[in-house]
Amino acid sequence: MPTKDIRADLGLRPVINVSGTMTSLGASIVVPEAVEAVSAILTEFVEMGDLHRRASQVIAELTGAEAGFVTASCSAAISLAVAASMTSSDLAAIERLPDTTGLKNEVVIQSGHMISYGAPVEQAIRLTGAKVVPVGQATSASAYHLRGAINERTAAAVYVVSHHVVDYAQIPLKIFAEIAHERGVPVIVDAASEYDLAGFLADGADLVLYSGHKFLGGPTSGIVAGSKAFVRGVYLQNRGIGRGMKVGKEGIVGALAALSAWKSRDHEGIRARERRALDCWVEALAGKPGVIAEIVPDPTNNPLDRLKLRVDPAEARISAWDLADRLAAGDPPVIVRDHEVEHGYFYLDPCNLHPGEEHKVVARLTEELEKARMSNEVIITPFTERLLRQEAAILKWPD
Ligand SMILES: *Cc1c(COP(=O)(O)O)cnc(C)c1O
Repeated sequence: MPTKDIRADLGLRPVINVSGTMTSLGASIVVPEAVEAVSAILTEFVEMGDLHRRASQVIAELTGAEAGFVTASCSAAISLAVAASMTSSDLAAIERLPDTTGLKNEVVIQSGHMISYGAPVEQAIRLTGAKVVPVGQATSASAYHLRGAINERTAAAVYVVSHHVVDYAQIPLKIFAEIAHERGVPVIVDAASEYDLAGFLADGADLVLYSGHKFLGGPTSGIVAGSKAFVRGVYLQNRGIGRGMKVGKEGIVGALAALSAWKSRDHEGIRARERRALDCWVEALAGKPGVIAEIVPDPTNNPLDRLKLRVDPAEARISAWDLADRLAAGDPPVIVRDHEVEHGYFYLDPCNLHPGEEHKVVARLTEELEKARMSNEVIITPFTERLLRQEAAILKWPD
């Protein structure tokens, strides 16, 4: 940790992040190798085409793909990949987008994959001028739905791997890719948060997209890997709609440093440290009335466990969401993973903790649980009230 906390200078609260890798909190702790690389390049000039060539080699090496490209974000990568599926290397077509006259312009995606990662995935597709064609229903997609959705105008098939997608009755990637390939349609896999850098290509992806700033611990960036011709088409979008999504030299160099560091990272050691944080929380919460803590694996099988904390308001005298809100409002603010909190639980994610912060989390949790036990009435804000309050807060910005 730096000795001086820049957040204090900016009047910002020193947040403890137990929610995972969240754009709203600044993504992840950037690894020291990337921090150094970013600061080393900022004052120098480079030939950007060559820097992108070097990036292509590094990404290819790590993923087993033919080529790679660094984008501004995974969301940008979705748009640029879809654009490339329509234009290939046709520079005139690239400059014409989002006008897709004369191009194949339909993109199929399973309805259960049409999620929001903070913005709708289908908007990242439509931004290019492409038309989204949903496959199946949210909770049911079959091979025949996909076959029926593909026609002579289909430019690409997008597949999302994420804890956000519906996790049953979807078409497995291998089958999805087989069907798309039978009809000559390339498959783009959005694997923004997935640790597996080679598996999706092996399962049939033509292009796979990652976030550089999530598990990889790079600066804000996206990583594209795939066949040379397809990746070239993505690169060339920088002369068109990609310009407004461009990544700077610092983003590219930082992403490369993070990728290289990933190769030599002590994954076992990190796993063990996360496990110690989880064990520390389990121990601290054992026997607390109305709180059941359970270590659970990541839903998409990333090598990452979290603590699921179920709160019974009758015993704990507070709802899960009120507890989450009080932790977030406290000093220091502790932000938990609360995207399913209406079910009466939230998670503590240890992947973005600085050493020692797990104890501060315990201290705050214990404090709030004890306060709730002492309170005369059970603390339950109606959940709808919480939703409306959050929505109103968004619209008040910058106040
Ligand atoms: C985070 C995420 C994105 C967006 O990634 P950014 O790099 O932040 O733009 C896209 N898809 C999924 C599934 C994600 O989880």
